[in-house]
Amino acid sequence: MEIVIWTDWIIHMNRVSVFPLKTNTKNLVMFGRGPRKSDSTKYYDVLGVSKNAGEDEIKKAYRKAAMKNHPDKGGDPEKFKELGQAYEVLSDPEKRELYDQYGEDALKEGMGGGGGHNPFDIFESFFGGGSFGGGSSRGRRQKRGEDVVQSLKVSLEDVYNGTTKKLSLSRNVLCQKCKGKGSKSGNAGRCYGCQGTGMRITTRQIGLGMIQQMQHVCPDCRGSGEVISERDRCPQCKAQKVTQEKKVLEVHVEKGMRHGQKIIFAAQADEAPDTVTGDIVFVLQVKDHPRFKREDDDLHIDHSLSLTEALCGFQFAITHLDGRQLLIKSNPGEVIKPGQHKAINDEGMPHHNRPFMKGSLYIKFNVDFPESGFLSPEKCKSLETILPRKTSKHLTAMELDDCEETTLRDVNIKEEEMRRKRQQRYRESYENDNDDDDDDYPSGRRVQCAQQ
Ligand SMILES: [Zn+2]
Ligand SMILES: [Zn+2]
Repeated sequence: MEIVIWTDWIIHMNRVSVFPLKTNTKNLVMFGRGPRKSDSTKYYDVLGVSKNAGEDEIKKAYRKAAMKNHPDKGGDPEKFKELGQAYEVLSDPEKRELYDQYGEDALKEGMGGGGGHNPFDIFESFFGGGSFGGGSSRGRRQKRGEDVVQSLKVSLEDVYNGTTKKLSLSRNVLCQKCKGKGSKSGNAGRCYGCQGTGMRITTRQIGLGMIQQMQHVCPDCRGSGEVISERDRCPQCKAQKVTQEKKVLEVHVEKGMRHGQKIIFAAQADEAPDTVTGDIVFVLQVKDHPRFKREDDDLHIDHSLSLTEALCGFQFAITHLDGRQLLIKSNPGEVIKPGQHKAINDEGMPHHNRPFMKGSLYIKFNVDFPESGFLSPEKCKSLETILPRKTSKHLTAMELDDCEETTLRDVNIKEEEMRRKRQQRYRESYENDNDDDDDDYPSGRRVQCAQQ
């Protein structure tokens, strides 16, 4: 396989999703990674219940504390997160038993390495969503990052032979140093300007007793809802949470792939905190070939023969898409007519996924006739003796007398056609103008018509 290195091609990705429009990014990332404590009283303390509290008591305690500490009500996000965490475990008999016996660490392993749920989701599933009258409508689930769709130009040779294209790209990845949190401590404060919502509402008076409300992205936190203090900023990413990575992708273009076919690199697009990374999708653009045309798994080629070759036989070579020379020759005594097709089996395109199966190569023959005046009257006579007999009837002198003489003129049939259409259009519009009795036209025009 041939390797083509296109070093000049750098894909610049869409960086719109660097700042998540959510306030809870840190909560999700931080969940389950707090200070390790192997005792099993912390969750009870958080909810303020005793170790042998019943289900109802735990529910009640969570309801009260979560309402009080919800960030939308000005509560502490850290505390809110802890409450969700505690409630999630203690409300589930299985998890609670595990926690009682082995502590927090056992749960983390059980949950697949520090998973856990978004505290807002826990809160919403408890209260049934929308509990603060629209205040909870912000998207809190992990959003999906955008896919990067890039067309990849390849030649017909590339899809005939298969190839590998190397592409260099630069993309955003979560900062290694801060694990995408943007701060040294791993914490972020709530943005004061928007109370952590990422949006700000401004009001202005637009008339007597009329007030217009406008919502816009908070300029202080750029919609993230959080701020990281100057001192706490991650030195690696400067609190951007992501850094740039240069990377080389090898795109394998397989034999027989088609125009428009997609080659997908899953989860290779820009990374962003709290976001499922999108895919890089290459869409094949097979460039037109100067000689070969593809139709499914077949190839088509045009070839012009001279009149002599068409009548007396021919032999020529075609360079195939892999460089092989194919010898094409006529059978003895064979005459080729203008527009006639011939085909060669198994010299078409390889079938994708079954490259040993190939389509046909079709050849369409054109015949180049010699120009007028090429034959002198004498040569014509001698040619007539060789060529098949004339099929047109021989006219007698009497019959000729009854005929009228005509003159043939040369014609470009396409131009004639266009002229005819133009005339027809003109005629139609003219007739419409005259026959139209409706008052659709301005009276001035009708008067003019009448005067003519
Ligand atoms: Zn803000
Ligand atoms: Zn960082």
